[in-house]
Amino acid sequence: MRIGIGYDIHRLVEKRKLILGGIEIPFDKGLAGHSDADVLTHAICDALLGAAGMGDIGEHFPDSDPAFKDIYSIRLLEKTWEMVSQRGFRIFNIDTTVFAEAPRLGPFKQAIAEKISLTVDLPPECVNIKATTTEGLGFVGSGEGIAAMCVVMLGVS
Ligand code: MG
Repeated sequence: MRIGIGYDIHRLVEKRKLILGGIEIPFDKGLAGHSDADVLTHAICDALLGAAGMGDIGEHFPDSDPAFKDIYSIRLLEKTWEMVSQRGFRIFNIDTTVFAEAPRLGPFKQAIAEKISLTVDLPPECVNIKATTTEGLGFVGSGEGIAAMCVVMLGVS
């Protein structure tokens, strides 16, 4: 078994859609980035790559590459899982936490878990989405950005 962690942060700005775990969340701001800036999906990609010993998301999908401009990050997760599974790994489970002062993500957690589970071909109960505020503290608390953390366990199939 192998464990990987992923962590990502993106800045909240006006005139961007907020996409988390591949789901569009109604909010007056969105995350800035070269791709759709889906901070949660990026953390999951990094955790998978980390567990497989395959580097990080920036090495595989550089933000200098126009091919990834505004890309739906679920496509990056699909590609990541394809690369990792080709090395003979399977996923036991994915556990995540999103750090956001707003919006409240409770109503969207199930849809996000389903989207992620479909993308990496895993039963929904093996994907866990948690969300927390930071009690008003730091860059998350001030609404400057959203962060996400992920831990993945892989086995060799
Ligand atoms: Mg990112």
